[in-house]
Amino acid sequence: MNYDQIFLNALKSVKDEGRYRIFMDIERKKGDFPNAIWRCEKGSSDIIVWCGNDYLGMGQHPSVIYEMEEALHKVGAGAGGTRNISGTNHYHVLLEKELADLHGKESALLFTSGYVSNEATLSTLGKLMPDLIIFSDELNHASMIQGIIHSGCKRHVFRHNDLAHLEQLLEASDPDAPKLIAFESIYSMDGDVAPIKEFCDLAERYNALTYIDEVHAVGMYGARGGGVAEQEGLMDRLTIIEGTLGKAYGLMGGYITASDLIVDAIRSFASGFIFTTSISPVIAAGAVASIKHLKSSSLERELHQKNAALLKQKMKDASLPVMPSESHIVPLLVGDAVICKQASDMLLKEYGIYVQPINYPTVARGTERLRFTPSPVHSEEMMDHLVTSLKAVWARLDIDKYASAA
Ligand SMILES: *Cc1c(COP(=O)(O)O)cnc(C)c1O
Repeated sequence: MNYDQIFLNALKSVKDEGRYRIFMDIERKKGDFPNAIWRCEKGSSDIIVWCGNDYLGMGQHPSVIYEMEEALHKVGAGAGGTRNISGTNHYHVLLEKELADLHGKESALLFTSGYVSNEATLSTLGKLMPDLIIFSDELNHASMIQGIIHSGCKRHVFRHNDLAHLEQLLEASDPDAPKLIAFESIYSMDGDVAPIKEFCDLAERYNALTYIDEVHAVGMYGARGGGVAEQEGLMDRLTIIEGTLGKAYGLMGGYITASDLIVDAIRSFASGFIFTTSISPVIAAGAVASIKHLKSSSLERELHQKNAALLKQKMKDASLPVMPSESHIVPLLVGDAVICKQASDMLLKEYGIYVQPINYPTVARGTERLRFTPSPVHSEEMMDHLVTSLKAVWARLDIDKYASAA
C-alpha cells in the first residue's frame, strides 16, 4: 500500500483543475485597514485587502480593542475549560444576553465558530427529532449541509430561493412529520437575498420550524444590526436565528438565538457545544463591545451600503462583468478557474490588490469569480485604483472571452 500516492493523487486533481489553494501570508495594520503587508519568498509589499469579511472594519474599532485589552488584563488569556467545567466566564454570559437581545429572542448560545453553530445545531435537531424532515436550500453553506447530513434525517433540497419548489416538496411530505426549513438570508457568493417572509408563510402553512443563517447580514442590516430579518420585521417569525462574530463583528465565534426551551435543548445535547473549550473571554468581551456599538451606530452600515453601491456602479461604468447582487457583495465573473487564479495573482503582484479567486466547490464550475467586499474603510481613491487595475488585467488576460463562454 502506497499511502503517499493516495494523498498525491488527491492533490494532483485539484492542482490540475487550477484550484489548488495557496494561503496569502498577510499582516493587517490596525488603524489602517484595509491596508496590509503581504509576505512571500521575495520579501514583503504593501497591499489593499479587497476580499475581507471584516465588512465594517470592526476588527480595528477602538472600543473593541480597548475592551479586549481590559479583559485580557483582568481575566487572562483563555477560558480555562468547557462551558460546563469552569469555562463559563462572565463575559460569555454578557455576550449571550447581548445576542438574545439583538435578535429579540429569549436566549442565545455561543459556539466556537459560525461553522460549528450550524453543524452542531442542525445535527442535534435531527437527533432530538429522528423523524424530522429537513428542507434545505441548494446553495446553503457547507456547515449547514454537514449539520443536515449528520442529523441523519430525511432531507429535501429545494432549488435556490424557489418557493414553488419548496411548497411542492412540503406538500408531498407526511403532514404529521416534524419539519424544518433551513436557509440563509444573504448568500455570500452571489449576494442575493432570500424571500424570508414567504419562507415563514410556508412554514406556518405546513407547520414547520425555520432556521436562518444570517452570517453575512448580522451587524450590517437592520436598525440595530440584527440582520435582514430585523430589517424586514421578521425576527419573531423565525424559530432559530444563527450568526457569526467573525464577519461584520470583526472577531470570531458563532451563535444561535431562539426560545429558552430550544436553546436549553441544544445546550444539553449538542456534542459540538458541550465537548469543547469555550471561546476566550477576551474575544467575548470584544464581541460585546462590537455588537453594542453596532446596535447604536448606523454610520458604519450606511457607509458600507454607499461604498458597495459606488463600487458596483464604477465597475459597471467600466464595463466590467459585475454579477447581479442585491447586497454589499460585489462578484465579478471570470468563468474559468485557471484564469481566475492568474488574474488574482497578477492583481496582487503587480497592482497591490488582494482578492482571492473563488472557485469550485465554493461556486459552480464555469462561474469562477473574483469577489470584492468594499467596506467603510475603502476610499473612493482605492476604488478607482481597483477599477483601473481590473481593466488592465481583464485586457491582458482577455477575460471577456471566458466570461461570455460561461
Ligand atoms: C462564513 C460562514 C459561516 C461560518 O461562519 P464562521 O464563523 O466563519 O465559522 C456560516 N455560514 C455562512 C453562510 C458563512 O458564509
